[in-house]
Amino acid sequence: MVSGDCDLLVVGAGAAGIAAAREAWSLGLSVRVLEARGRVGGRALTGHALGAPMDFGATWLHAAQSNPLVPLAEAAGLSLFDHDSVRDSRVWMGDRWAGPREMREYEAAERAWHAAVRLAARRPGLSLAEAAPRGGFWDATLTHWEAPVISAAEAGEIDLADYLATLLNGTNLLPREGCGHLLGVLAHGLPVTLEAPVERISWSGRRVRAEGRFGTLEAGAAVVTVSTGLLAAEAIRFDPALPEQVLAAAHDLPMGLLSKVGLPAAGEDRLDLPPFGGLERRVEEGERAMTFVAWPFGRNHLEGFAGGALAWEASRAGEGVLVDLAFSELRRILGARAMRALRRDAAVTWDWGRDPWARGAYAALRPGRGGAREALSAPIGGGRLMLAGEACHASLAGTLAGAWLSGAQAARHAAAALRPRGVPA
Ligand SMILES: Cc1cc2nc3c(=O)[nH]c(=O)nc-3n(C[C@H](O)[C@H](O)[C@H](O)COP(=O)(O)OP(=O)(O)OC[C@H]3O[C@@H](n4cnc5c(N)ncnc54)[C@H](O)[C@@H]3O)c2cc1C
Repeated sequence: MVSGDCDLLVVGAGAAGIAAAREAWSLGLSVRVLEARGRVGGRALTGHALGAPMDFGATWLHAAQSNPLVPLAEAAGLSLFDHDSVRDSRVWMGDRWAGPREMREYEAAERAWHAAVRLAARRPGLSLAEAAPRGGFWDATLTHWEAPVISAAEAGEIDLADYLATLLNGTNLLPREGCGHLLGVLAHGLPVTLEAPVERISWSGRRVRAEGRFGTLEAGAAVVTVSTGLLAAEAIRFDPALPEQVLAAAHDLPMGLLSKVGLPAAGEDRLDLPPFGGLERRVEEGERAMTFVAWPFGRNHLEGFAGGALAWEASRAGEGVLVDLAFSELRRILGARAMRALRRDAAVTWDWGRDPWARGAYAALRPGRGGAREALSAPIGGGRLMLAGEACHASLAGTLAGAWLSGAQAARHAAAALRPRGVPA
């Protein structure tokens, strides 16, 4: 049984929770972390079933220039690879690959698509679907890429201004050892109790109290980093209840879904695809498709991605459906050869939609609900209760970096609440 007292209690040992705990430690606070799962990392999870690391959740360190995890990964001795330096995407046109001229047209259409979307943002409250150009040869493919594939939600479910505010620029680095591995390294030595789901948080008195089957823990302040999916479902009972505007913010930031599948090679056939070769399909409006990255780092597997409604449908349909979907997509593009070249029986996947401690991949802001990220991250009870996590960050939302920065900031707010101005540490 866990019991005791500390300055700061952190709920969740994902990126935000690890950052909060490290920040609190560096400020000289005593800290305890309670994590529901039997591992740290949350939505960053590196598996090894394919004989090499494969991330089922967070994969890239986006916006590398401003990503706080980049220097930390370097200092920890991880090897970071610039994925943008080897991008080699192929687009299937339905009966053949897009040729060089078509690829140039695709790139020009992409610039026009972004310009049109930025222009539309002058009108407030629009969804990405209302702003995205339609009717052009590549428009549906571009909207499909930006919404379900990148944002894990359909364009009609995404607030346009927030989409623009959270667009990721800069280099995308891949830690060779995996993002889940990175978070494990960064959590090393922290006082984390695993398999300790918090069921109730009481914050009416001077102390904050967390309870669950692990026992009871009291603290001067708490940083809670669970996903907005769990907050909106009221998976943790707060006493008193969370302020109305905070709960409303969690509902305004519902979880999108992105699912990954790893398909190992059956033999020597590499399907004429280079390492890191990207595969996507031109789609018509309303059509859904998966995308693929072949043989990352020259490894013997191919990674597939399904996002938005397609991913939710596969999740609801149950185990194995995403793998079936990946194979039918690849058959469509590469024919029966793909069926022979890849092992269906050894395919691996992780269903974040059914994962009870995530309930989705990352949050997308509902159209017209600007201000929700700020409401979610505002100090509660004078800073004795802070919410943190990817959904709380204004510009790096949906990423490890956003979660990390939000966790560290929440810990600083909590520390300030614990040590009012003028009271020495
Ligand atoms: C498929 C996929 C691909 C992605 N790709 C990228 C990418 O390439 N780059 C990138 O930067 N980001 C990516 N992301 C997003 C990134 O993974 C998340 O933004 C980030 O990991 C969220 O961190 P967090 O700390 O906010 O939440 P989490 O990682 O969810 O951490 C919250 C923790 O709280 C725990 N918890 C929940 N309930 C309780 C409870 N009651 N008691 C105690 N503990 C509890 C959970 O188990 C979890 O460990 C991806 C996500 C997915 C799913």
